[in-house]
Amino acid sequence: MAVTRIVVAEDDASIRELLVHHLEQEGFRCEQAVDGPGTLRLARTSPDALILDLGLPVIDGFEIVRTLRREGRDMPILVLTARSEEIDRVVGLEVGADDYVVKPFSPREVVARIKAVGRRTGMTSTTAPVTLTFDRLEVDQAAREARVDGRDVGLKPREFALLLELAANAGVALSRATLLERVWGYDFDGDARTVDVHVRRLRLKLEEGEKLPPLLQTIHGYGYKFARG
Ligand code: CA
Repeated sequence: MAVTRIVVAEDDASIRELLVHHLEQEGFRCEQAVDGPGTLRLARTSPDALILDLGLPVIDGFEIVRTLRREGRDMPILVLTARSEEIDRVVGLEVGADDYVVKPFSPREVVARIKAVGRRTGMTSTTAPVTLTFDRLEVDQAAREARVDGRDVGLKPREFALLLELAANAGVALSRATLLERVWGYDFDGDARTVDVHVRRLRLKLEEGEKLPPLLQTIHGYGYKFARG
């Protein structure tokens, strides 16, 4: 099941969280970066698109776009800028972004632009929110809820996000570091045990509470895998 993965690079937490919220509602999966080095690191994992604030700490957005293009990375890049006079430089050949939005913007505008940019550049994955079904369990991305036999299990937001990440990659082992980055975000400053604690809660709710067969497999010394059917 392909879920479009977008890196959202923005150091202003309120803007970043607002964007992520709206993008997730539309079925995108978001990974967050808060500075230049973090953005480069995530952008090099081949996401489907990058939403990039030009004014990031340490390495600015101009340099990031130039670096990524020089490395031959051609994912769509939508730039966020506070200064309309920067636009010509950003979108022109000089830098190589695909489109831009000037702050202040509405999240809906950003979602519409990233979809348009994605269509133009052949971003293939579905952008409709997905409902993943595994026998009695449904993981409903639009409603942000997990249901067993049609009843909401009542997961906390982070528990749901972790379950969605694992379920969307059913059969694939994900390391604790990857899960921390994708579910908690790059700037989260906890440790890998956070992942274990949340997996334990999911097991309690799903496997013990709902009597589902074991879904979340431990990969010793590495991380977790969602059992495929
Ligand atoms: Ca900024």
